[in-house]
Amino acid sequence: MAPLFDLTGKIALITGSSRGIGAAIARGLAEAGATVVLNSRSAADVDRAKVELSGLNRPAYGYAFDVTDQKAVASAVDRIEEEVGPIDILFNNAGIQRRAPLEQVPAETWREVMATNVDSVFFVGQAVARHMIPRQRGKIVNTCSLASEIARPSIAPYVTAKGAVKMLTKAMCGEWAKHNIQVNGIGPGYFKTELNRALFTDQAFDEWVRKRTPSGRWGEVEELVGVALLLASPASSYINGQVIYVDGGLTAVM
Ligand code: NDP
Repeated sequence: MAPLFDLTGKIALITGSSRGIGAAIARGLAEAGATVVLNSRSAADVDRAKVELSGLNRPAYGYAFDVTDQKAVASAVDRIEEEVGPIDILFNNAGIQRRAPLEQVPAETWREVMATNVDSVFFVGQAVARHMIPRQRGKIVNTCSLASEIARPSIAPYVTAKGAVKMLTKAMCGEWAKHNIQVNGIGPGYFKTELNRALFTDQAFDEWVRKRTPSGRWGEVEELVGVALLLASPASSYINGQVIYVDGGLTAVM
């Protein structure tokens, strides 16, 4: 591992890492030497994800908590700091998608998407930053989306939430960069995860993604690891408040 990208001895909390993008990022960080702390709402799923990493012979921990519950977040972050050690790297990755025409979106769905995708970044980011600030170092990476930049019919709450995550990333940079904390975002394009099952199992949508994406295909979750390592490691010591899109060129080309 090149020293710039080496995470040996670092502790990384990745929310929403029992599967999908979070699990791939956790594996990538562990392979780069980090001790990873996995999370989702399900203790059983977190345990299963931990077992999947056991072949790497690196310590991995799991803490099941709901990122929309501010009290649960604060107490979990304090426990991780006490039981595992100082959180050097935070990936705010947990997220959900709910699809419906905007005129039919119930208020509860709107709030559920906002709570999971935006409130969580504030709750977990704030709880972790309170520990990072006195240490005068830290890395925070927020999972944004294509939807941070462009909208699509049927996902208005998600688009609104991911636009907010992009701006919260910049706001965090504005407040915490002076404490040697780098806050950046990753904006994935289309990846085949649970979140997108309804899309990749729909032949017409699958064809649309392949046509619309300049690379001509869906992304593989492992293809997010390179940017994750960049943004979690000393290699990004002067990169702050940026969102890097990993989308096969989709946001660059009409
Ligand atoms: P998945 O549905 O595969 O994984 C989501 C993860 O978040 C799971 O571990 C889930 O576990 C967890 N999670 C959901 N709600 C909560 C909660 N309230 N508290 C704690 N954990 C929670 O989705 P992806 O891997 O695709 O998504 C990961 C991130 O990437 C999301 O922010 C998503 O918006 C974003 N993204 C995904 C794209 C894609 O193409 N897949 C494209 C752009 C962005 P559980 O439900 O058991 O709690």
